[in-house]
Amino acid sequence: MVREQQLNVTACANREQDLVLYYYGELSDLDRVAVKAHTQSCEGCRRYLGQIGSILPGTVERDDPAQAFWDDYSREMRRKLAEAERRFSAALTRINVEDMARRAEALK
Ligand SMILES: [Zn+2]
Repeated sequence: MVREQQLNVTACANREQDLVLYYYGELSDLDRVAVKAHTQSCEGCRRYLGQIGSILPGTVERDDPAQAFWDDYSREMRRKLAEAERRFSAALTRINVEDMARRAEALK
């Protein structure tokens, strides 16, 4: 009797991370295409990808270090976003000042 539920599927070691990112839709277009092409020729990775959905959610919930990692990750993302926002609004301010200077110049 074949036990389909066993999660002993083996993906290529150097592809596991990409497969997880693929599952979460975090890959660039190029990487996504590469992973998709690979899974079509590699049964291990194809089956791994097929079972990732049933493996990952539970893993993340139970695994405390992983949760800490995601907390750090999200803190880091917020920091980067705030930084980007600051630069963006600084750039906008600069553009407006330059624009106003040009307009003022044109009125002379
Ligand atoms: Zn593979």
